[in-house]
Amino acid sequence: PSLRVYAAQGESERSYVMVKPDGVQRGLVGEIISRFERKGFQLIGLKLFKTPKELAEEHYGELKEKPFYGKLVAYIISGPVVCIALEGPGIVASARKLIGATNPLNAEPGTIRGDLGIDVGRNVVHGSDSPENGLRELGLWFDDDELIQWDQHMTPWLKE
Ligand code: UDP
Repeated sequence: PSLRVYAAQGESERSYVMVKPDGVQRGLVGEIISRFERKGFQLIGLKLFKTPKELAEEHYGELKEKPFYGKLVAYIISGPVVCIALEGPGIVASARKLIGATNPLNAEPGTIRGDLGIDVGRNVVHGSDSPENGLRELGLWFDDDELIQWDQHMTPWLKE
């Protein structure tokens, strides 16, 4: 099969998840990837990346008018991030649940932000908030040939 994937198959969705610079600096990359792997979502793209300012601005374009926008962009470009592309049925909403509320102080224990953060401006991880944004963000952060289609051999043990 082709290694290139242009759209999720069938009812599957895609999400763009990112370990933010604080997560990388704090050595939480493995911990965060591990939570999505163990859940059963399929990794289709992964890289360590130094974010250009224009990309951070475009990614958070919807928040341009917010008072925290400038600091948010500065935070996202303050060090390397880990870009993660995930695919699976219902992945977008489920990844948001695993990630937890925007403010880590409000995030439930058991979620990534609930377990690993204390400040909304250092909330460790990003996850797309809709399937449309999932595709939009993957298009921003990954080239087509960086997304890999592969057979996940544990699928029969994950899905009936
Ligand atoms: N953010 C912030 N202060 C706020 C709200 C948000 O610094 O009061 C940052 C935070 O890093 C958050 C990002 O802006 O993750 C995007 O905000 P959004 O409301 O989209 O939250 P998310 O979808 O990341 O939970």
